[in-house]
Amino acid sequence: LLILLEQPIFISSHSVSVSGSAGIAMYPDDATDAESLLRNADVAMYSAKESGKNGFQHFTSTMNEKVQLNMLLQNKLKVAVARDEFENYYQPIIDVENKKTVGFEMLMRWHTDNETISPSVFIPIAEHLGLIVEMTIKAIERGLHDVAKWYEQGFNGYMAINLSAKQFSTRPDFEKILQLLKEHNLPASCLRFEITEGLLIDNNNKTLDYMHEMRALGFKISLDDFGTGYSSLRYLKDFPIDVLKIDKSFVDDIGIDKGTESIIESTLIMTKMLTMDTVAEGIETQQQVDFFNKSNCRFLQGFYFSKPVNHRECYELLQKDWSYKFISQKDIVKTTLRY
Ligand code: C2E
Ligand code: MG
Ligand code: MG
Repeated sequence: LLILLEQPIFISSHSVSVSGSAGIAMYPDDATDAESLLRNADVAMYSAKESGKNGFQHFTSTMNEKVQLNMLLQNKLKVAVARDEFENYYQPIIDVENKKTVGFEMLMRWHTDNETISPSVFIPIAEHLGLIVEMTIKAIERGLHDVAKWYEQGFNGYMAINLSAKQFSTRPDFEKILQLLKEHNLPASCLRFEITEGLLIDNNNKTLDYMHEMRALGFKISLDDFGTGYSSLRYLKDFPIDVLKIDKSFVDDIGIDKGTESIIESTLIMTKMLTMDTVAEGIETQQQVDFFNKSNCRFLQGFYFSKPVNHRECYELLQKDWSYKFISQKDIVKTTLRY
């Protein structure tokens, strides 16, 4: 059936093709009445879709458990949005030149029933339910409230907000964001947006227009998780991107894989020539800091400096001198030997 469905169809001079996904439920093993059989076949069909289009899958009982868990989470999330159960956490980004915090990435947290659900679990559900836009605006609102207090303490850096691809299906509410900035008497430079390649793949003119609009309003744009997707160099040329964030999966290989080190070094040279800034994400070790110091990567972020923290814990990071985190083990050994 799937092979037949795949055959191209000619409509006037155009050839069009469709693909299908099939779910299979068998009587009497998977269900004994028609309604349940169809429902289980449907569950298997969605599972087939998830594992890549144009395939088929037989129903299994674990599929049902997964679907039920997902439904439960969807319902909980709807309630959580109505009740505003989310909190902003912030992870500092460090400027290697002056060893100070230059900005914070805002990472959303959902605390519910004594557990913290990871954003990598709830953000895709929020996108699917169409709740992500509302959640992000609320997070920016909370965030700017915090940033205003940091500015009172003399901080003049930025807060970076992650935007998912779904948020660009319609024009982001720039007016609302500008109004919030005005209310807090904050400049546009205190806000940055992180996007991922997923958003650029559907390269439509609207995305480009929105990005240009963002830039014109004074917001910088970072390309997040660089190296995990297609990593097309074309994106860097075609889209207005100010900052490139090197993904943790690359950083992890420092000291382990020479090939990855060379790719990072070439990326750093390239971004410099394109006058873009670079942030290395997921720094966990002194060895990684040494590597980026040597290869002139200006901005660093990772657990080695600080995990994401709540707004109360940010105050001590605002003017913190991170110099002690840059003393390499080799230097410590040298100093000790001299004594
Ligand atoms: P991301 O934007 O790439 O954020 C970095 C993730 O890596 C964060 O995970 C952060 O806690 C983690 N991380 C940072 N440094 C280290 C490190 O040294 N070691 C390790 N093991 N992890 C590190 P988190 O907070 O769980 O967020 C996961 C992803 O969820 C984010 O990836 C982002 O894509 C998404 N996300 C988080 N908050 C939001 C949000 O408010 N809106 C949207 N659209 N997406 C969000
Ligand atoms: Mg990010
Ligand atoms: Mg990232």
